[in-house]
Amino acid sequence: MTERRHSRIIIIGSGAAGLTTALYNSRANLEPLVIEGIQPGGQLTITTEVENFPGFPEGIQGPELMDRMHKQAEKFGTKFIFGTVNRANLSKTPFELEVEGRFFTCDALIIASGATAKLLGLPSESQLMGHGVSACATCDGFFFKNKEIAVIGGGDSAMEEATFLTKFASKVTIIHRRQELRASSIMQERAKNNPKIKFLWNKNISEFVGTPQTGLKGIRLKDTISGEENVFECQGAFLAIGHVPNTQVFKGQLEMDEKGYLLTKGKSTKTNIPGVFAAGDVQDSIYRQAISAAGSGCMAALDAQHYLEEQEFKQK
Ligand SMILES: Cc1cc2nc3c(=O)[nH]c(=O)nc-3n(C[C@H](O)[C@H](O)[C@H](O)COP(=O)(O)OP(=O)(O)OC[C@H]3O[C@@H](n4cnc5c(N)ncnc54)[C@H](O)[C@@H]3O)c2cc1C
Repeated sequence: MTERRHSRIIIIGSGAAGLTTALYNSRANLEPLVIEGIQPGGQLTITTEVENFPGFPEGIQGPELMDRMHKQAEKFGTKFIFGTVNRANLSKTPFELEVEGRFFTCDALIIASGATAKLLGLPSESQLMGHGVSACATCDGFFFKNKEIAVIGGGDSAMEEATFLTKFASKVTIIHRRQELRASSIMQERAKNNPKIKFLWNKNISEFVGTPQTGLKGIRLKDTISGEENVFECQGAFLAIGHVPNTQVFKGQLEMDEKGYLLTKGKSTKTNIPGVFAAGDVQDSIYRQAISAAGSGCMAALDAQHYLEEQEFKQK
């Protein structure tokens, strides 16, 4: 028979949500197991300065913040394994998970697998991420006071981010690969009526120009009609081409919205399956911040604790 390692609580994901859940559950002596996934520490590990996480008046580097959260959860007895959940059977308890050929079971499951910002996949994009290139306007807009910024995308989030960024930037240019926007007409109008926002149509991004030392200097663009290339000068570039919640393995088992974000009940982290909870960006398409992810991680830990206590009471 295949060996299955059992834990009372398993947490899928090691971002701000998962590690906060782990901190609370380990301090309650529940010895949670965190399955870290392909990105230990989560999205904040791909950014540089974080200035909006309370408690760090000088700011803190994203990877350092996550390292501290990891150490804090570990200190109270959280166990970690590296690997990705490939399969989940939530149809009965204990819940069963397969992590790259290894099998795990748990009485309560917390899903904190986050959402992945869609990127273009260019080498220069990852090289300059946090050095002028960003995927989060709320997080990084403040760094671009009186600078020229480009926003890449043509949907509602691109319009919203561009409008928000005009609070800081001297000029915002929306770069879109088509001649028409996908955004709703009200969002388009708001952006088009903003005197600080300009548009560049029919442009594909070939390269982000600059180095981590110089920061972003510009974006090499290729016209989709004429094929002409030129460098558009700017100091900031925000990718606003959407997010994908990491929920594929739960399809058909847990209730999700049309984009695949997990649905939770009322002011709780409960999913449609008792004993399964969701925290962080995986269930939040609106706020998507480290502090809100950590906050819901705390809620999930307490919801899971109460659930386990109730189960124990019923068995007596
Ligand atoms: C470039 C950038 C800069 C940002 N800057 C800021 C900022 O300055 N301030 C701020 O508040 N927010 C910032 N954010 C947003 C912030 O990073 C997120 O809101 C936060 O990380 C969400 O935390 P989370 O734990 O919900 O998910 P994530 O951080 O996305 O973590 C998800 C975790 O789940 C794991 N995982 C995924 N799938 C599986 C699976 N199948 N099996 C096992 N594990 C899995 C991953 O490996 C990862 O560890 C930024 C985001 C980006 C992309």
